[in-house]
Amino acid sequence: MIVLKFGGTSVGSVENMHKVANIVNGTNGSKIVVLSAMSGVTNVLQKIANLLFLKNVNEAKLEMDQLLEKYINVAQNLYHHDENITISIAMIRTHDQLLRNLLSISFTENDEKIILAQGEMVSTQLFQLLLNELHVKSDLISAIDFMSIDNMGEPQIDVIQKKLNKILRIHSNTKTFITQGFICKNHVNKIDNLKRGGSDYTASLIGSALEVDQIQIWTDIDGMHNNDPRYVDKTFSIEEISFDEAAELAYFGAKILHPQSIIPAKEKNIPVLVKNTFKPEAKGTLIHNKAKILKIRAIAAKDNITAIKIKSYRMLMAYGFLKKIFEVFEQNETSIDMITTSEVAVSLTIDNTRKLNKIVQELNGFGNIEIDSDLSIICIAGDLAQNAKGVTSSIFNCIKDIPIRMISYGGSKYNLSFLVKTSDKISVLNLLNKGLFSNSI
Ligand code: ADP
Ligand code: ASP
Ligand code: MG
Repeated sequence: MIVLKFGGTSVGSVENMHKVANIVNGTNGSKIVVLSAMSGVTNVLQKIANLLFLKNVNEAKLEMDQLLEKYINVAQNLYHHDENITISIAMIRTHDQLLRNLLSISFTENDEKIILAQGEMVSTQLFQLLLNELHVKSDLISAIDFMSIDNMGEPQIDVIQKKLNKILRIHSNTKTFITQGFICKNHVNKIDNLKRGGSDYTASLIGSALEVDQIQIWTDIDGMHNNDPRYVDKTFSIEEISFDEAAELAYFGAKILHPQSIIPAKEKNIPVLVKNTFKPEAKGTLIHNKAKILKIRAIAAKDNITAIKIKSYRMLMAYGFLKKIFEVFEQNETSIDMITTSEVAVSLTIDNTRKLNKIVQELNGFGNIEIDSDLSIICIAGDLAQNAKGVTSSIFNCIKDIPIRMISYGGSKYNLSFLVKTSDKISVLNLLNKGLFSNSI
């Protein structure tokens, strides 16, 4: 069994859905196909939810009209048989009606989750009907029947495994399953999601639950690149990379993979192959535990970082000080990305500022607090063992004219990260690309 996940662009048009159907049809053996919403749809749904929250019914209606028009256009061009066009338009109208029902009721947080789930629900049904028309037998299984998260938002792997196995046993003759990425049920049995970009996570959670042979992530680029192609011109696809390095890059901003998506695959040692839907002949990137060691593999950047500095002479020689600081973040359910300490100060970074005011209030009792925002973490992944000579100097030589706010090195063997102003990010990524990969580009 393998898992194949196709992202938004891959299912983003009639032409692309046919490409996906070809890839699925050409893949031997049992498989679970995980689909995202058509590209742009989740953004539109988020916009609709925001407008409903603001009670801006007219604008929300306009967005719904445009989405409906887009879908109907897709349905009219995706199928040859009129019967399938009729079936799909009826399905689209059902989902459209669900959105419109929300125009007249008072909006809750759960309604937002229901709205966001509609994109994957529609794309999977459109796609299954396409496979039907192409005489490829498949079963559509609903992610909300097996994908679940606990009260902390963490996936419940045991529950997922049990439920999924039960569903697969019912369809024991089926070779091709289709399911929605991103969406799940939460601890109170309501529709929820695995956060933006979460379809990758769905794929790896399914892969892990079923201990599949491989998890394939099909996207719009020929694998993981050595640097962020949105900001750097001369990037190249990495042939292979270790789980640890890929996990660091995903966590620190490589948009190609959801930040948590590598962990379930790593835990079960399931190789992840990142492939290009539009260039299936390209090798892509294999994420596995046998990747040959490379000093510097790739670079990523994570934005919207806030640094908090706590300065206190009480810290000098005092034990238990850090514990108390960490407790503040724990109680406010805010995770820390980077941390550095000196004798009299601690600096740490967070990316979720929802509770920043409360955190600052509570930290005030410990000393002077300074807040810095609009920062980015630059993450360099590779075999950065502390005994590897010259690696750090080669990194910092490239960016000697850029002010650096914090450095984190030695926490993991696979990562060196540092904090810069977001306004310097693009220069830093380009300088590092030139300086560290000049032999490869
Ligand atoms: P999908 O919709 O298939 O999930 P995403 O847009 O989430 O696709 O991820 C693919 C995009 O990630 C690429 O088009 C590219 O712009 C961006 N990206 C950022 N960092 C990297 C990287 N290191 N390697 C490849 N792509 C990256
Ligand atoms: N459709 C969701 C999003 O746009 C999930 C995904 O594409 O992975 O975030
Ligand atoms: Mg994605």
